[in-house]
Amino acid sequence: MKYPDTKLPKVGTTIFTLMSKLAAEKGAINLSQGFPDFDGPEALRERVGHYIARGANQYSPMTGAPGLRQAIADKVKYHYGAEICPEQEVTVTSGASEAIFAAITAVVSAGDEVIVFDPAYDCYEPAIELSGGRAVHLQLQPPAFSIDWQQLTAAISDRTRMIILNSPHNPTGAVLSAEDLDRLAALLADSDILLLGDEVYEHIVFDGAPHQSLLRHPQLRGRSFVVSSFGKTYHTTGWKVGYCCAPPQLSAELRKVHQYLTFCTTTPMQLALADYMAQDPEYGDHLPGFYQQKRDLFCQLMAHSRFRFTPATGTYFQLMDYSAISDLPDTEFCQWLVDSAGVAAIPVSVFCETPPQSRLVRFCFAKDDATLRAAAEKLCQL
Ligand code: PMP
Ligand code: GLN
Repeated sequence: MKYPDTKLPKVGTTIFTLMSKLAAEKGAINLSQGFPDFDGPEALRERVGHYIARGANQYSPMTGAPGLRQAIADKVKYHYGAEICPEQEVTVTSGASEAIFAAITAVVSAGDEVIVFDPAYDCYEPAIELSGGRAVHLQLQPPAFSIDWQQLTAAISDRTRMIILNSPHNPTGAVLSAEDLDRLAALLADSDILLLGDEVYEHIVFDGAPHQSLLRHPQLRGRSFVVSSFGKTYHTTGWKVGYCCAPPQLSAELRKVHQYLTFCTTTPMQLALADYMAQDPEYGDHLPGFYQQKRDLFCQLMAHSRFRFTPATGTYFQLMDYSAISDLPDTEFCQWLVDSAGVAAIPVSVFCETPPQSRLVRFCFAKDDATLRAAAEKLCQL
């Protein structure tokens, strides 16, 4: 038999899987794949146990447990001042990954273009290509990794169906400002271009800055799918519970895909999250401080190394320039780093269509302080 040609010729196994596997095989400290090495809140985990024991083990409603959708709408009101309808505008998904895939495949058709900013998180382009669309890659401009507005204006064509924005940004840690959103609103005012806001790190923005969610912006909200992940917010990446907020017409299209992709998301986790969010509605206010302490500790320790960096303004990732240490390309440097320092990192070039000139790797600092100290001690010896 002849097997079909691959539909995704550019895709291999994700860098996150490769690096975590390598770290485990070599016994390296894993600062590569983005996940905490500590647990989520005990009361939240106990609630999951409670619901499993109480028999909440069957399908949830397709769009998400009503209590959780209400808690998400309340949260959006509390943080971003936006009134959204939990019935029509909130859909609970199996991680942000599912929401992103469903949003893209729901609205992107053959011949459509979708603008993404490099370095771009790796799950966007495969969904665009499976839909018959084409990703148009623009470069975020170092050192702040900001949008080049001239380049964006020039890239927009009649075929542009969607622009994907990721703020706080993985892997650079950059965040969009209120001025960026105003500028975007002015640029798109006379168009039907949709936005996909990947805001999974919405509660990890540092130095007192507010997160500029697309949901805050009345003109942008009406054309946006806004995606988040409870995995990032509650240190529970393995639960794979996320959600998408979008206007009723866009949510209806997203749900057409979601209902056949997964139908619904794991029930006990949803019920537990709903209870926990109702019990601690201000949880998101404390997260920036929690992660800022880790960013500061890691940066302070790494100041004694030969890596060069500017502290991240959001996310739990820190980019570092290794050009004073090695001339190797970043993928090779990351292999070498595991072998020579016993620390795993993520090369940045894998998120770029055109490999960047700079020599940058990404470290995840969502780790216990002891892990960060042990890793920095090794990295400082290079
Ligand atoms: N977007 C970005 C930018 C991410 O870093 C991640 C990683 N988790 C996701 C989406 C996917 O989130 P989830 O694990 O909830 O599917
Ligand atoms: N978002 C995580 C990261 O950037 C990885 C998630 C995954 O492995 N799919 O490291």
